[in-house]
Amino acid sequence: MTANAAKLLIEHYVDNFRRLPWRSPPGEPAADPYHVWLSEVMLQQTTVATVKPRFERFVQRWPNVDALAAANDEDILQEWAGLGYYARARNLIACAREIARRGRFPTTATQLRELPGIGAYTSAAIAAIAFGENAAAVDTNVARVIARLNRLKRPAPGEVERLVLEMMPEDRPGDFVQAMMDLGATVCRPKPRCPECPLRGDCAAFACGQAENFPERAVRAARPHRQGIVYWIERAGAVWLVRRPARGLLGGMVALPGSEWSDAKTLPVNAIASVRHVFSHFTLDLAVVSHAEPEGEGWWQPLDAIGTAGLPTLYGKVVAAVLASDSRLAA
Ligand code: SF4
Repeated sequence: MTANAAKLLIEHYVDNFRRLPWRSPPGEPAADPYHVWLSEVMLQQTTVATVKPRFERFVQRWPNVDALAAANDEDILQEWAGLGYYARARNLIACAREIARRGRFPTTATQLRELPGIGAYTSAAIAAIAFGENAAAVDTNVARVIARLNRLKRPAPGEVERLVLEMMPEDRPGDFVQAMMDLGATVCRPKPRCPECPLRGDCAAFACGQAENFPERAVRAARPHRQGIVYWIERAGAVWLVRRPARGLLGGMVALPGSEWSDAKTLPVNAIASVRHVFSHFTLDLAVVSHAEPEGEGWWQPLDAIGTAGLPTLYGKVVAAVLASDSRLAA
């Protein structure tokens, strides 16, 4: 790889960077660490298009980390509803409170990593973008670009980080990290657009005409199946909602009452609706059955205000399926 590669990459970034509400344009003062942190947590497993409006609402409601730390858990979880991976929201709350307790954001990747929910990638991204540290922020996109540039099928642990640091210009770590992220997201995609790429003269995988074959794709294990029952308890235009236990999947989120989820293979035949939802590590089939009496501690949520209840996507799907079903009225 030529020493010119980083320069070409940053020039391309200056001309093509994605304007995102948590970013500073290239060459301008660094972005607010609160914005970088919040966006990076939201972007874990969620697309940029989904995150953009949610990020804007979040910072409008809680403009800084102290305001977020002082908010109550239920309001934050409700604002997070629909973004999925709710452990992130619980870590976000714990992290905001720890930063508020310390009085300011830690400024190095090593210190940032001590905070709840901040791993190697997020700590390096915040340190490089907000604080100008030469830290290697390696997500899936960046790992793919580096593997192709260096024609690596299965990079050894730590090898990608080392190669990122070798390529990173000391005076512009923030722009470099964001340029790599943008290149991986828009040009060096799983199906690469090499003719548009500023690095094609430096790319070993392109040179051998096999860009798409690098890195080697991991074989995914089959996703297991689980099943469960949800109770639809409706009275006078309202439905009975509960809050899930604080720990575990969807912990602390608003939900419809129901059974535990298990590997059992039998669902009830009297279901008024059914829903399939794919989590990252299993597929869930829920059967919705009508129930007369309230189950567990909860409250009556008017159906015409169901959109403000803070239901996560899974239960939003259940409500939509029931409301679209004729059997609900017949039950
Ligand atoms: Fe990726 Fe192609 Fe650019 Fe190489 S030339 S970095 S494979 S887009």
